[in-house]
Amino acid sequence: MIKNYLKLQFYALPRNQAFARDAVAAFCLELNPSLSALSDVKTAVSEAVTNCTVHAYGGGEGLVTVECEIEESVLHIKISDEGKGIADLNQAVQPFYTSAPSDERSGMGFTIMQTFMDEFKVDSKRGEGTVVYMSKSFNSEVENA
Ligand code: ATP
Ligand code: MG
Repeated sequence: MIKNYLKLQFYALPRNQAFARDAVAAFCLELNPSLSALSDVKTAVSEAVTNCTVHAYGGGEGLVTVECEIEESVLHIKISDEGKGIADLNQAVQPFYTSAPSDERSGMGFTIMQTFMDEFKVDSKRGEGTVVYMSKSFNSEVENA
């Protein structure tokens, strides 16, 4: 049985987004992912980390924590910040909802995470921060058939 764990912590700076995305992708290589599954994970991580940079700290200083766990053929990801939090979660996860339309945001980040991953959940408390949980199952025989 395979079990593995990774924890990354970094400043919520735009230049760390690619680093976080690629680190998670490298971590899940042991699951022998298809290119399309790998690309799904990278996109979802990118969206979650970008949200921490753009929304949680409003461009100010703050930390993002990315934790990954591999259990059997499943990758679990938890991405958290200690920023301003989300007042209305139901509204936030709606496709096309954005609190920052003037910044050319399309409001599709959460929808993309939900679509590209097998499981998705977000918890948030106003003033305390936001936690996104996602998981994806890699069945290498099926994926690479
Ligand atoms: P896009 O992702 O398409 O650029 P977006 O970031 O506005 O646009 P989502 O990623 O779906 O869209 O997020 C929806 C809304 O949820 C955001 O506009 C923001 O108000 C809120 N939000 C998302 N993540 C966070 C976060 N980590 N901290 C605080 N607010 C957040
Ligand atoms: Mg977003």
